[in-house]
Amino acid sequence: QYVVVWFRRDFRLQDHTALYYAINEVKKSGKEWLALFHLDPPEHLKGSPHEDYFFQTVSQFKQRLKEKGIHLHILTGEMEEALNKLKKELPSTSDLYVNLDRVGEGAKRDERAKDICESLGISFHGFDDAYLTAPDQVVKGDKSYYKVFTPYLRTWSKIQKKKPVRLSESEIVAAAANVPVIDEKSERVFQSVLKRCSTSWPLLGEKHALEKLEEFLVGKINDYEQNRDYPELLGTSQLSPCLKVGTISPRTILFRVFEKKDTKGREAFIKELAWRDFYHMIQYYNPDCKELEVRNEYQGFNWNQDKNLLKSWSEGKTGFPIVDAGMRQLKKEGWMHNRLRMITASFLTKDYLIDWRLGERYFEEMLIDYDSSSNIGGWQWAASVGTDAVPYFRVFNPTTQSKRFDKKGEYIRKYIPELRHVEDAFIHEPWKMDEKKQKEAGCLIGRDYPAPSVNHHIQRKKAISMFEEYKNVQ
Ligand code: FAD
Repeated sequence: QYVVVWFRRDFRLQDHTALYYAINEVKKSGKEWLALFHLDPPEHLKGSPHEDYFFQTVSQFKQRLKEKGIHLHILTGEMEEALNKLKKELPSTSDLYVNLDRVGEGAKRDERAKDICESLGISFHGFDDAYLTAPDQVVKGDKSYYKVFTPYLRTWSKIQKKKPVRLSESEIVAAAANVPVIDEKSERVFQSVLKRCSTSWPLLGEKHALEKLEEFLVGKINDYEQNRDYPELLGTSQLSPCLKVGTISPRTILFRVFEKKDTKGREAFIKELAWRDFYHMIQYYNPDCKELEVRNEYQGFNWNQDKNLLKSWSEGKTGFPIVDAGMRQLKKEGWMHNRLRMITASFLTKDYLIDWRLGERYFEEMLIDYDSSSNIGGWQWAASVGTDAVPYFRVFNPTTQSKRFDKKGEYIRKYIPELRHVEDAFIHEPWKMDEKKQKEAGCLIGRDYPAPSVNHHIQRKKAISMFEEYKNVQ
């Protein structure tokens, strides 16, 4: 009989909860296990950078398994169709092990998968794996969920986290089933999807993700608190893409971090992992939050839907260098530093007053570390419509942010070549250069680099009064 492990955002062999329990079952029962990946019908795919990164990771994992003599079987089509196919081709499939999605479409899919398995006579085993705590684990005394992060963090910190689970390579390999490819056609479809994929962000498999963690622990964690806000310093772990595709588990990160000296940097880093769990929990209790503001008093807010402004923002042509540098990094690399995510999201929602949902969707397409909970949480935070969000009257000033977090304009110059030769004194406000300076810098404002598309001070006032008027009407 076969125990199937369905991989979906967990492309690793160590500290993989579903695999660990599947192998334990196999050892007890004498069954064999096999690895499965379900590929959505290609017509549902968008060809976005986020998908490209994901499929390339799957391919890399497939290769890694192959080197161990294990085949990662691919089944495409609707999920129902794929599970039926599995049972038809391998009638002795007895169990399906899977790390669950608890929010969004993935959670709905898992509910359906459970029912289908039941109807096919397959035992379905689901596990919480992708976060340090389950979304319904950190609750108040009266079992309601936390809406504010600080008290959430207090309870979260007291909860004993699950330790990483380990399997030896020989345990994994010995029990692997040697069955012929289940569906040649699906394998071909996967290869054709893969041919279209390209990514400029380093593709890290499990081994390199662990190395990246060690690099961060040796060189950066102690200064994390001071450095994390300065994009040019690269003081953060950059592990978000690995967490997204699961080449590393959050438990592996946390327990390695626990082994380090207790510093402010360590504390600040653990807090970020808690934010990740917090937003996951918020999405779990607010399943409509991709469309609806968690603070329901702001639902129905009259956001701007201007396509031209949205385009100038997404292309990095707003005329505000720090915003444009962030957006160009996103377009070029599929990743953006947290400070820049806050600045660009604030700019779209408060300076352009554009609907946060449009920004959220654009990030979804472009970010290779796209995580619906963190992205929605981050956008609702910046737009002041989420739980524990930035207050609507504290509007980020892009120029002040730029002067503070990219003092010498190094980050700006890296992503905006037109501004490369602009003096430090004007790098944050190039529109202040007179004609002579513009010529010297080889950058004519309005020709080589856009003039500011809006007046921040006017827009700030507009944003605040829109929020206030809306509140009064409600
Ligand atoms: P580090 O600073 O090294 O932090 C370690 C890990 O903690 C991160 O990898 C991440 O998993 C988690 N983390 C850090 N900051 C946050 C945070 N503010 N919220 C939730 N988790 C956090 N993060 C995503 O993983 N996917 C997204 O789609 C995403 N969209 C965002 C959108 C907006 C508008 C904002 C403001 C933030 C968003 N974030 C998102 C959170 C944060 O920007 C990234 O997690 C972080 O920049 C990743 O870089 P890092 O791995 O170097 O982080």
